Amino acid sequence: MSFVFGPVPSRRLGLSLGVDLIPAKTCTYDCLYCQVGRTTQKTVHTNAFVPIQEVIDELKKRLEIFTPDAVTLSGSGEPTLYSKIDQVIAAIKRITDTRIAILTNGSLFGQGVVRRRVAGADIIMPTLTTAFEETFKTIHRSHPELHLKSIIEGLKRLRQMYNGQIFLEVFLLAQINDSQEELDGLKEVINEISPDKIQLNTVVRPPADQSAISLDMERLKEIRDFFGEKAEIIAETPLRRRWGQYDTMVESILAMAKRRPLRASDIATLFNMPLQEAEGVVKGLEIKGTLRQLEHLGEIYYMLG
Ligand code: SF4
Repeated sequence: MSFVFGPVPSRRLGLSLGVDLIPAKTCTYDCLYCQVGRTTQKTVHTNAFVPIQEVIDELKKRLEIFTPDAVTLSGSGEPTLYSKIDQVIAAIKRITDTRIAILTNGSLFGQGVVRRRVAGADIIMPTLTTAFEETFKTIHRSHPELHLKSIIEGLKRLRQMYNGQIFLEVFLLAQINDSQEELDGLKEVINEISPDKIQLNTVVRPPADQSAISLDMERLKEIRDFFGEKAEIIAETPLRRRWGQYDTMVESILAMAKRRPLRASDIATLFNMPLQEAEGVVKGLEIKGTLRQLEHLGEIYYMLG
């Protein structure tokens, strides 16, 4: 099993290596907008799903060939369901100085034990979509034991005990949580939570449910202005969407090549692809003049052209 993925270019963190601690698709929610697909294991019970040492060994190997801007605990489910996430954070800190971020739905922060487990991370990125219980259930199809009031209370308490940064993602869906009443409610609770940033997102990739409809950029900008100076839009641009995965990979390769020369074998390892395929990708970029070859001690490296 592979636990480390990426690097993934992200507007929020730069180039990030993802660490996936949760089997697909295990989550406390089953969001309308989920890009991983429908939740098959809906649970609120934490578990040590994978062996820490295997995760750390794999991460160490990736870090030998690439230094990311962040290591992100995320992936194919809710990372705070991993019962030893505090030990994973501590183990990552022993092998790298890179910032550690957690991409979480925040649903378990009502529990003090979960808040304490994540406190070693540098950035926590929880999601909040509404201040109303009914809308919460519609969007997240949450586990029956979860209640919005306790989640919001948990986020406020996290702010009080946590010294790192909180980037609060507000995921917006047309005709579900974009009315003025919804936005007024959100603004009030967000002020109480007091995150460092408010990051507005909407559907940009195929969602789990067709009823998840995105907001257009004009509306997102209006909402950003309504939330004030901490707010920013993080939804990907339509251009990147059109180009899809290949473009994302090329963007990562170019960003890495800017920092240090790369071999085709490095790209194959980083993107989990056959060497031949990686050679094809770099050759294409070389023909376009984006990358150029450099021979060093009998090995071929690629740098920005
Ligand atoms: S919380 Fe995240 S992983 Fe879980 S269902 Fe929602 S979008 Fe998918």
